[in-house]
Amino acid sequence: MKRSDDTSHIHPPERSQQPFQAVAMPVERASTIVFDDLEAFEKRAERVYDGFSYGLYGTPTSRLLEDHVAQLEEASRALVVPSGMAALTLATMAVCRSGDRILMPETLYGPGRDMILRFLGPLGIAAQSYDPRLDAGIAELLDERTRLVWVESPGSASFEIQDVPAIVAAAHKASALVAADNTWASHLLFKPLAHGVDISMQALSKHASGHGDLLMGSLAVRDEALFRRLKDTARFLGYGVSPEDCALCERGLMTMPIRMRHAAASAAEILAWLSQRPEIVRILHPAMPEHPGHAVWKRDFSGAAAVFSIVLRPELAPLQNEVLRRMRLFKLGASWGGVHSLIAVNDPRKGRTSLDWLPSGPVWRLSIGLEAREDLIGDLEQAFALFVDFATASKAEGRRAAE
Ligand SMILES: *Cc1c(COP(=O)(O)O)cnc(C)c1O
Repeated sequence: MKRSDDTSHIHPPERSQQPFQAVAMPVERASTIVFDDLEAFEKRAERVYDGFSYGLYGTPTSRLLEDHVAQLEEASRALVVPSGMAALTLATMAVCRSGDRILMPETLYGPGRDMILRFLGPLGIAAQSYDPRLDAGIAELLDERTRLVWVESPGSASFEIQDVPAIVAAAHKASALVAADNTWASHLLFKPLAHGVDISMQALSKHASGHGDLLMGSLAVRDEALFRRLKDTARFLGYGVSPEDCALCERGLMTMPIRMRHAAASAAEILAWLSQRPEIVRILHPAMPEHPGHAVWKRDFSGAAAVFSIVLRPELAPLQNEVLRRMRLFKLGASWGGVHSLIAVNDPRKGRTSLDWLPSGPVWRLSIGLEAREDLIGDLEQAFALFVDFATASKAEGRRAAE
């Protein structure tokens, strides 16, 4: 039957797709998915956890990425969502109901803490912050209402290491679940589920995506009922991810171990250089032997990420802006784990009572990228020269004042 031009614009001639076997992940877009018969259509809701019913609930591309993340996390199931923040929100909302209580470390990712306090609080979900160094001592904070314990090790900005297995043991004894924001280490350097954690969360926007151009988060679990609760909650919230983003994320995953190893080796050299600098009073990185969490980090992690903080002398605070502006390679910006080296200036002391150990002074978080090490050190050196000029000038001024 001859078709009208209008129809032909929608139905191209059929052509076999076989054999076409690319090594790259195929990008399959869909909102609409069609069914062979009425029975299949009426039962489409059964396909929400596996298979395909509507683009929002999964495409071949998103399912491939989820299977890959599950494998890397040593999980049975994984879910990808539009951002790390979405993953944090989803895990919390799937587990907690009105009347439940959450324990979260003071170091939990700031926007996540805000979401728990300001969004879930008014919905009747209580939250208590705890000192991230509490470890097994968390047992005293657990009660029969506590449904969920968040951990984040190392902690945002201040890099305290938590004894995750000890926290898991205490939480499980009190019938609470444990969720880990594992964005710093990623599945590559720490496997939360293998350490007893119930929900492993990470922002794939960081190490996995790796190029500062993609937002995505993941949740991985070993329990099918928990997976279904997460998937249902994602459905209710309307969380879906684009297949293009999934394929980009998959491309990032393929080079992630090599990028992370390279950045970690650069970070080690940069840390050695920073250790010699008089401007710096403390380096916050668990791979440093003097870090209080070093032994636990060594026990539980298989390596170090190239993300850490430094504490500058307090008297250098007024010079920060000039020094940051003088940097050519290090850019001032949030996020981490990408090919570009970044510095973020955050005061972790805000709203936290457990930081009495942190010396005073500005805190900079550095994320080491893939630029050549010598160029990165050169960049820091030329920018830090301004600190040196300042120190020389203030010494001269001191001498003049003394004369
Ligand atoms: C970046 C980050 C998140 C949020 O991820 P987005 O994809 O940017 O929403 C959550 N937790 C930690 C520790 C992060 O660094």
